Amino acid sequence: MQYKELENCKLCSWECGVDRLAGEQGICMMGLPEVASCQLHPAPPQSYTVFTSGCSFKCLNCQNWEIAHYPRIQSKIKGVVVPESIARIGVQAVNSNAGQMIGADRFFFSGGSPTVSLPWIEEVVQYAKTFDPKMKVNFDTNGFPSRRSFQRILSFSDSLTFDIKAYNDEVHRALTGAPVEPVLTNAQEMARHRDQLWEFRILVIPNIVDLPEIQAITEFIVSLDETLPTSFLTFRPNFCLDTLLGASRKLMEEVVNLARKTGLENVHWAGFSDIPGAYPSVPQEFVEKFSHQHAAVAAFYAQRAGCLRIQRNCGMCDSKLTCDLKGYIPHQTT
Ligand code: SF4
Ligand code: SF4
Repeated sequence: MQYKELENCKLCSWECGVDRLAGEQGICMMGLPEVASCQLHPAPPQSYTVFTSGCSFKCLNCQNWEIAHYPRIQSKIKGVVVPESIARIGVQAVNSNAGQMIGADRFFFSGGSPTVSLPWIEEVVQYAKTFDPKMKVNFDTNGFPSRRSFQRILSFSDSLTFDIKAYNDEVHRALTGAPVEPVLTNAQEMARHRDQLWEFRILVIPNIVDLPEIQAITEFIVSLDETLPTSFLTFRPNFCLDTLLGASRKLMEEVVNLARKTGLENVHWAGFSDIPGAYPSVPQEFVEKFSHQHAAVAAFYAQRAGCLRIQRNCGMCDSKLTCDLKGYIPHQTT
């Protein structure tokens, strides 16, 4: 498992160019690809799901923060796994009675961001298709692979689940630490391969990604193709947004209605709604620093968790390997 390209890593749109094999760290902080956990998973598309460690984003709402912030946050993970071995185990799991009972028919690569582990995943897929030529593959993406990586992902994936975290760049950066442009460009490319899109996934976060932002995202998707499948997921308090209230059923219904009004034909929402929490009270002097109020709310939470910049941009930040936000331990996860 000596992946030469990790010596000058440009797998995601940060294109850090660091030598991961020599111990240099990019934004994801990862060296060799490592597996956090893997298991049969009944949620559509039913699969043998492999969670890889490390992520190119530092999302305030992260549900898998222990995986995404590894190795900065030390968590229980499997570690480096030989591709042939996990391919064999996964194929057996999909074809087992338990796998068939849930309707599993594919590997599902998630994370963190699986792009960080792309050459390792390609090798797993190669073995899996040798062991069972009918085996399918789903790739779960935050939309931030480099253009070249995205073409590689499209070349072996039967389906992609594609997150769009926000449309407005200020909101996207405040929420994830990364610019939105590469995501929108990859989404346009995704639309050209529409048969491979399982669905766009949009997390609805009160006061950050709610109606104004949803309007912008859905207009963008409609401009690509109004029939593209889109799923709105319900925010639950997590990671740096551990005290924010969950999205309500009423908000989720409004979001779907708005998306339909905007012209999207294939939409639904899913998840647990109405988890209690607080509305943020963002100081006025903070709000004044942003042109977009929802970005101010996200940036306020980022600063509370240890971000040192008013305008987040982890790739351009001197503190990218040391800032407290990446070691933040939430008071609750739901
Ligand atoms: S953040 Fe992206 S480009 Fe940078 S080292 Fe990690 S995978 Fe490579
Ligand atoms: S301090 Fe820098 S690296 Fe840390 S979250 Fe803020 S912008 Fe990103």
